[in-house]
Amino acid sequence: MERLARIIAHVDMDAFYAAIEVRDHPRYRGFPVVVGAPPSARGVVAAASYEARRYGIRSAMPSREARARCPQAIFLPVDMEKYRAVSAQLFEILETFTPRIEPLSIDEAFLDLTGCPVPGGGARQEASRADGPGAAEDPGLAIGRAIKARIRAALDLPASIGVAPNKFLAKLASELAKPDGLRRIGPEEVQEVLDPLPVTFLWGVGEETRRRLGSMGITTIGALRRAPTSVLRASLGFAAEHLAALSRGIDDRPVEAGARAKSVGREVTFAHDTRDPEILRRTLASLAEEVARGLRGQGLRGQTVTLKVRYGDFRTVTRRATLDAPTDTGQDLYRAAEWMWSRIPERGRAIRLLGVSASRLGRSAQLDLFGGGRRDRADRVMDAINTRFGDGAVRPGRLADAEDPDRSHPAAGVGQGAGSASAVRRR
Ligand SMILES: [Mg+2]
Repeated sequence: MERLARIIAHVDMDAFYAAIEVRDHPRYRGFPVVVGAPPSARGVVAAASYEARRYGIRSAMPSREARARCPQAIFLPVDMEKYRAVSAQLFEILETFTPRIEPLSIDEAFLDLTGCPVPGGGARQEASRADGPGAAEDPGLAIGRAIKARIRAALDLPASIGVAPNKFLAKLASELAKPDGLRRIGPEEVQEVLDPLPVTFLWGVGEETRRRLGSMGITTIGALRRAPTSVLRASLGFAAEHLAALSRGIDDRPVEAGARAKSVGREVTFAHDTRDPEILRRTLASLAEEVARGLRGQGLRGQTVTLKVRYGDFRTVTRRATLDAPTDTGQDLYRAAEWMWSRIPERGRAIRLLGVSASRLGRSAQLDLFGGGRRDRADRVMDAINTRFGDGAVRPGRLADAEDPDRSHPAAGVGQGAGSASAVRRR
């Protein structure tokens, strides 16, 4: 496919967590809303509504500082389960437009719309540049508009969408469109849009590169474009060609559709902080089983198991164990999680959230090379852990629970939506 004909969209939800909370609590609409740790705790801001951003509140800022900047701000706790569920709905919507989707985060993705039908545009109108001057609305823009409308209708949330011939420009376009905007950067206006922007708009220009360019008198993308590549190379090394190309709006990277999941995880926030070991173990078993089901559903196995524990005061600890062989069974994951659990200090403290995830993912083999059933594999993994950490490190523990989905379901003591926690999206 000819490169210039590509139509790439970048879809990015606006203040995602905060927008979801405002949607679900309409009385907060129009107010500065901060999602994250409470200001009395040591945690940080996860998302800030645009009203809160006017006070200079940004994500990753300590909540205490956010409160100092805006004492009337409304602080809400992070509800990751809910945001993941909304993310899953978002990606389902995107998939109705094209299968060529590269997820970047929970609320952000590239879409390759090249050749996709324009909704309501009739069978013959496709997203290509063949329409020529005088044609109706640009097809990329028309699809972008339809995506925005469907997100609004189905999720009641704002999204910003950029449409351009490549990923770099599409992401830039959505950034310039924010909030709740739609913007296309066409091939004919690339230089006009890029030249006045600060060099920090280029991918890969961090503080150090910005400083080096600044010392050469280069602060805008236009100035960078006009600088001889040899001069750039002397200061920036191998990054020079990359930046020179971006400054001209050139970016050949394909949309990596089907980019594989990096991890599959489930977590549960308890309705009330709990220290009941029985509830905690049952929850671990249930989470392990759900993660295993998620792995099997995608034909994957994971080799690294991560246990996440968040205490009542939001302090979070994670532990990681790597198995000697990848697995997709609940028993294996539970054994590893339980083993890590048994070694976490402060086990008597009240717990707010538990999470289990599997990473270092690989495709399941068609046939189990080692033969035997699940039970054998579970035993093999247990052997492996024991070998690694010393004999007796892993005991069968509450495996009976893990094998019985009804009994292991952590209904008692688990907060809303425990069963609807969805997979960690591909990043
Ligand atoms: Mg976003």
